[in-house]
Order: sequence, then structure tokens, then C-alpha cells
Amino acid sequence: MDIPALQLNDQTSIPQFGLGVWQVPADETERVVTDALELGYRHIDTAQMYGNEAGVGAALAAAGLARDEVYVTTKLNNGFHEAAQAKESLARSLELLGLDQVDLFLIHWPLPTQYDGDFVSTWEALAELRDASLTRSIGVSNFQPEHVDRIVSETGIVPAVNQIEVHPYFANEAARAATRRHGALVEAWSPLGQGGGELTDEAVVRIAAEHGKTPAQVLLRWQIDRGDIVFPKSMSHARLAENAAIFDFALSDAEVAELAGLDRGPAGRQGPDPDVFDWIP
Ligand code: NAD
Repeated sequence: MDIPALQLNDQTSIPQFGLGVWQVPADETERVVTDALELGYRHIDTAQMYGNEAGVGAALAAAGLARDEVYVTTKLNNGFHEAAQAKESLARSLELLGLDQVDLFLIHWPLPTQYDGDFVSTWEALAELRDASLTRSIGVSNFQPEHVDRIVSETGIVPAVNQIEVHPYFANEAARAATRRHGALVEAWSPLGQGGGELTDEAVVRIAAEHGKTPAQVLLRWQIDRGDIVFPKSMSHARLAENAAIFDFALSDAEVAELAGLDRGPAGRQGPDPDVFDWIP
């Protein structure tokens, strides 16, 4: 599998394609991640909230790949935004993952209505974890334009990525633009719209047929062509293989534009609105 690598603003690089493991049950994670690694996946996106870091760690240990051959991201759980908790939680994640360092550690949600709206000190805690080499890169997730602007203006520390919901029905252009304006890359979560309506959308199905590809492959290729990082989730070996077979075709500019035209704005969201999401597990 020939996966493009993208350069991050901290001079590290990240595979543009990988596997996301949200909602992969803990007792099936080792099997799914092992299948993916065998197929050539080299980027795994997990989170403290997913409860499956140990399964990811077991698959990594069994694969026996050199540490620099696989890119591992985890995310700070919503209950650990205070600096001391953030530090303790990454130590615990590293133990579960069986690693000395993750490649990328993200603030999972900004929670602007929790912790007195103070995600800035959480961001400073992540910078200290990077300085201590417990993570190579740091970033954010679900940050709205004003959240990204605020951490950069108040700390001078630019995130490497902002992981946000993006798929054709919810193109999320304002958050994409704010992220890229700071020189950070966009990681597009739920790139398949969580297996929803886009997979049967007339335009997606037609474009797929023209290329001899599946709708899922067209959705993923669209995001790759726009320069975003994707990690679709699947637990099936056949779909893991299908989702990775996206590097042997390209969409035309007109097809990219047609897919962008499917945007329904906020009505197209699958997930919660980060401005009000306040769930603490
Ligand atoms: P997704 O868009 O990747 O869709 C996954 C679903 O699509 C699967 O459960 C399956 O039902 C279906 N599917 C997968 N491959 C298919 C194929 N080839 N054909 C037809 N259907 C297929 O959804 P997701 O898991 O929500 O997003 C991917 C990853 O993004 C997650 O696993 C996680 O790592 C990350 N994510 C992050 C956040 C965040 O808040 N940061 C939120 C959601 C997801």
C-alpha cells in the first residue's frame, strides 16, 4: 500500500490515510487493528474515550513493526482537562498502548461550557507533554474557528492538526479554513458520514460507477484530493481492504466540485455541535 505522507507544521510527517477505531469493541480491537496492519495500514486513530487503547497496543506488540513505521494518535478524555490530569492520563495511555511516546495527542473536545471555558491551560499542558517527548506532536479536535484562533493567540503554540467532522453533507468549510490558515492540517472524522446517506447519494454512486470504484472509495478519495487526513472505521476485512484501495484513481476537478456542492451546512452533521457539547464520561 503506497500511502502518501503529509508534512506537519512541526516538521514531522503523518500518513494521510489510516484506521479509526471509534466504536470498535475493546475485545475486538486487537483483531481489527491486526488485520489493518497486515493489509498495510500504518496509522491508527484511537482515544482514551474509546476504551480500546489496550487492544491497539496488543496489535502493535504482535505486529512487531519498528516504532517509526506506524503512526499512533490518542486523545485526551473530556474528564481530564486539568493540567495534572492531562499528564496522568497520557502516562496511562502510553502504558495501555505499550509505547514510550505517541505520535499525536489531541484535546478531544474544546468543551467551551466546561472548566470555565479554559481550554487554553489544557493546551499548555499538552505542549509540556510534547516538550517531555511523551508525544511527538500535539493538536486539537472539534475546535471551532474561534477556539483555534484563541489557543494560537494566547499561547503562540500552533496545533499540528485539527480533527473535525468532514464529509460531503457536512463540508465544515469554516473550521477547515481556520485550521489551514494557521498552517495546521485538517483530519476529517467520519469521512464516510458514519455509513449514512452519502453512500447511496445519486452523485456519489454515479461518480463511483464512472471510475469502477465504490461510493466509499469515492468519498475517501475526495478528502484525499482536498488534502485532508482520513481514517475510516471498519471491522470487516473486506471493507478494510476496500477503503485502502483509493490510490489508483483520481477525481476530476469537476467531480471534486460536484461533491463539495452536496454540503448541507450544519444540517449535515452526524456528530454533536462542539460549541455546546459538554459531555464528561
Ligand atoms: P466513518 O465515517 O469512518 O464510517 C464508519 C462506518 O461506515 C462503519 O461503521 C460502517 O458501517 C461503514 N463503512 C465502513 N467502510 C465501508 C465501506 N467500504 N462501504 C460501506 N460502508 C462502510 O465513521 P467514524 O468511525 O465515525 O469515523 C472514522 C474515525 O474518525 C473514527 O473511528 C475515529 O477514529 C474518528 N472520529 C473522531 C471523532 C472526534 O470527535 N475526534 C468523532 C468521530 C470519529
